Amino acid sequence: MIKIRVYELAKELGMTSKDLMEKMEELDLKVSSHMSSLESEDAEMIKGLFEEEKEGKKEKKNSNKGKAMKVKNNSENNRKKDKKQDNDKADNIIEMGGTIIVKDLADKIGIGATQVITKLIGLGVMASQNQSIDFDTASIVADEFGFKVIMDKVEDEEDIEREFDLDFEDDPKDLRPRPPVVTVMGHVDHGKTSLLDAIRKTSVTTQEAGGITQHIGASIVNVEGKKVVFLDTPGHEAFTSMRARGTQVTDLAILVVAADDGVMPQTIEAINHAKAANVPIMVAINKIDKPDANIDRIRQDLAEHGLVPEEWGGDTISVPVSALKKEGIDELLEMILLVAEMQELKANPNRKAVGTVIEAQLDKGRGPVATVLVQKGTLRVGDMVVSGSASGRVRAMFDDKGKNVKKAGPSIPVAILGLSEVPLSGDLLYAVEDEKTARAYANKNKEIVREEQLRASQKVSLDDLFEKIQLGEIKDLNIIIKTDVRGTIDAIRQSLEKLENEEVKINIIHGGVGGITESDVMLASASNAIIIGFNVRPTLNALDIAKHEKVDVRTYRVIYDAIEDIKSAIKGMLEPEYVEEVIGRAQVRATFRVPNVGVVAGIYVQQGKITRNSIIRLLRDDIVIFEGKVSSLKRFKDDVREIASGYEGGLGLENYNDIKEGDILEAYIMKEVER
Ligand code: GDP
Repeated sequence: MIKIRVYELAKELGMTSKDLMEKMEELDLKVSSHMSSLESEDAEMIKGLFEEEKEGKKEKKNSNKGKAMKVKNNSENNRKKDKKQDNDKADNIIEMGGTIIVKDLADKIGIGATQVITKLIGLGVMASQNQSIDFDTASIVADEFGFKVIMDKVEDEEDIEREFDLDFEDDPKDLRPRPPVVTVMGHVDHGKTSLLDAIRKTSVTTQEAGGITQHIGASIVNVEGKKVVFLDTPGHEAFTSMRARGTQVTDLAILVVAADDGVMPQTIEAINHAKAANVPIMVAINKIDKPDANIDRIRQDLAEHGLVPEEWGGDTISVPVSALKKEGIDELLEMILLVAEMQELKANPNRKAVGTVIEAQLDKGRGPVATVLVQKGTLRVGDMVVSGSASGRVRAMFDDKGKNVKKAGPSIPVAILGLSEVPLSGDLLYAVEDEKTARAYANKNKEIVREEQLRASQKVSLDDLFEKIQLGEIKDLNIIIKTDVRGTIDAIRQSLEKLENEEVKINIIHGGVGGITESDVMLASASNAIIIGFNVRPTLNALDIAKHEKVDVRTYRVIYDAIEDIKSAIKGMLEPEYVEEVIGRAQVRATFRVPNVGVVAGIYVQQGKITRNSIIRLLRDDIVIFEGKVSSLKRFKDDVREIASGYEGGLGLENYNDIKEGDILEAYIMKEVER
C-alpha cells in the first residue's frame, strides 16, 4: 500500500507540518511526528476534508468529497495499526537528499560523528564531519547501524541544484562517445611527473610543436587521432578531496610504480582510493631502464595487493615503461584507449554544460581563473555559469595549449575567466539560463558555506577548553594519541583517565604508533578531538588539513608535560604561550647617580621605542650583561610611558646600578601568541 509522510502531505496541502498535525489532532488522527506515515486512505480523507474547507470558503469546484466521506470509516481502523508501524519505521529510516553532511547523518542515527568517520575510513572514504557524503556511501554506513536511508526533499546542495533546475538525466539516445579522463597516481618519486611529461611530448603533433603547454591542471593528448585527457593531480589529494565533495571526474587511474622500488605506502593508498571510487586501475611499471629494475618482483607485489597482472591470469593491465627514455609510452597510451573503449564512455554534448572545477586561483590581471572539466553538454564563451558561491558570464576560455577557444564539449578541460570569485576545486559548475538564477544559486551556496565555517570554528582546543566546560558546551574531551612506541599509549591512557572530573569525561578515541597522518586529523575533526603526539610529528599534509579543519595538534617529548597541559586546560589554567618581541633599542650616553634611587642612564633611543613596561636586555660588546625591568623612565622631569626613536630620556633599571656609558639597551615585551 502506498503511504505518505505527514510532511509530504503538508507540502501537498501547502501548509506546515505543524499546522497539519494540529488539524489532524482535532480530527482525532494523532501522529507522533512529521515523519510519521499515513495510509493513503487516511491521506485522501484529510486532503478531501481540506479541500472541502477551502471550497466552503472560496466556493470552488467540488472534488473529493464523496471519496473522503467513504474512506473516513476505514481510517478509524487503520489508524491504530499505523501508529505502531510509524514508531518502528520512522525510527530506523533516515531521509536525505543526494548528499548528507557526515555530522547530520551521525545525529540522525543517534551516534557520534566519530563512529561514522571510522566506518567511512574503513570504506576508504576520507570525510570530516562537516563534509558531505553521497547517498550510496551514506546507505552503507547507515546500514551498519541498522538504519535505512531514503531520498527525501530536505534541502541540501543537490536539492538546490534541482530547485534551480541545473541538471537533468540525459536521454540515452542523445549520448555520444567522449574521451577518457585519466589520473596518474603513485608513490612520491616513482615518476608521475616524468611520465606525464613523456606522454605529453610523445603526442605533440607537428603543428603544436614549439607551442608551450599552459598549466591549467589538465592536458589533452592525441593518440591515433583520439583524445585522452590527463589530469595533473599531484598525488591523489585532489582526487580524494573531489570524492569527498561527492564529485568524480576520473575514468581511469594510472598507478605508477618504480621498477627499482616496488609497492610503497602511497602506492597502497592510491590503490585504496581508486578502488573506493570504483575507478579501474592500470599500472605503469616505470624506470625499467634502471639496472636494478625488476618487473616480475613488481608484478608479484601488485598481486599481493589485489592487482593480479593479466600475464598471471588476473585482469590488471601493467605496462613496463621508462619515462626517462620514453620507452613503452605508446603501448601505455594504446592500452588506455583500449580500456576506455571498453568503458563506453558517453555524454550528451548538446545541452547546457555541467562540469567540475579541477583547479582555481586568483590571477592578478585576469581575476578568478578556474579550470573546468566539462562533463556533460558544451560550455561556451558567453554562457552564464555558477559554481558554489561563484557566478558570472564566461568572458574567455583557454585550452591546455593556452589557445583561446569558444567552446568545450564533454571531457574537455578549459580555463575560464569571468567568475565573481574563486570557486573550490571539486565544486560542480553549471551553465544556467540567466543571471538571476546564477545569483540566487550562488547566494544559497554562500549560506551553506557560512554555516560550515561556523561549525568548523566551534572545534575544541586545549586553550579554550575550560571556557567551554564552564559554558557547558563540552562534557567529553576526545583525544587521539600517536606515539613512537606502543607502551606509551597505555601509559598515557592511564594517566589521562585519572584526570577525569565531574565536568569532563576524557575519551581516548584512537591510539596508534607512528606519525600524525591525514586520517588522524580527519578523525579528530570529525569527532571534535584533539591530537597528542609523543616523539612523533604530523606530516605536512596532516598539518595543512589540521589548520583548515581547525584541529588542535600538540606534540610532546615528555608524557608529564602533556598530562600537565591537559590537567591545566581542564582546570582553566593553561598558560598562554609567549614569544619575545623586540620593540626598540637605545644607547646609554651618560650615567647619573641619584640619591636614594641609584644609577640612572641618560639614553638616546636609536630604534623603535622603549616603554615603561618593557624588559630591558643590557648589552655590552654584544654580550648580555643583565636583563630586568625598568624602574623609572623620564623625559626631562616627567615620568613617561614611552620614549620613541630619535628622543632622549632617563632610564633606571630595577636592582641594577652597573650601567655604563656606551651600553646598548634592547627593550622587548613578551607577547601572547595563539598556541
Ligand atoms: P613523482 O614524484 O612521482 O612525480 O616523480 P618524478 O617524475 O619527479 O621523478 C622522480 C625521479 O625519478 C626524478 O629524478 C626522475 O628523473 C626520475 N625518473 C622518473 N622516471 C624515470 C625513469 O623512467 N627512469 C629513470 N632512470 N629515472 C626516472
